[in-house]
This record gives sequence, C-alpha cells and structure tokens, in this order.
Amino acid sequence: MTDEREGAPNALSGAGASRRRALVQSATGIAALACALGGCATSTKVQGNMTKEQAQYQDHPSGLERCGVCRHFIPLTGCEIVAAPVQSNGWCQSYAFL
Ligand code: SF4
Repeated sequence: MTDEREGAPNALSGAGASRRRALVQSATGIAALACALGGCATSTKVQGNMTKEQAQYQDHPSGLERCGVCRHFIPLTGCEIVAAPVQSNGWCQSYAFL
C-alpha cells in the first residue's frame, strides 16, 4: 500500500521548501539592502557633535547630495559628524556618498 501523499511537497522538501527558501533569501537581501542604504538597528555609528555652523549645515539638499544618502547619516535624524538633529533632506560640507 502506498501513501497517497508520497511525492507531494511537504514542509521539509520539494517545491514548498524551495519557495520558502527563496522567500527567506529575498527578504534577507532586501533587509541587507535597506541597511546598506539607510543604516539599520544594528548600526555601530556614533552620534557626532560638530555644530551645524561649523559644518555649514543647511536644511535642504545640495544638488543630488543630501543626508539621506550620506555615509555619515544615522536614521532617523542622527549623523556621525554633526550634532543631531539633522534631516534626511539636509546637507553639510562633510557629505560623503554611501
Ligand atoms: S551631509 Fe553632513 S549632516 Fe548630513 S549626514 Fe552627511 S555628514 Fe551628516
């Protein structure tokens, strides 16, 4: 007598497992991309304390350059260089692209 479910996908193998594996891998990739672009909860960045005047900070972008795509930005309003708060649309002379 044969099991009617023999050959059917289950939790440990087959197409079901492949789909689950693909979903986990894509979710991990998206999380890694989000962290790379905007920082994440495990960031080791330390808040800076340079005054906005010293950094020549402005609360608007400089062309395409803005805090949100700067390597020093710490979401949501922090920065490794300039004292908080800074805005994701702000900019200063220490800007450095991701
Ligand atoms: S542009 Fe300046 S203020 Fe904005 S995140 Fe970068 S270093 Fe900080």
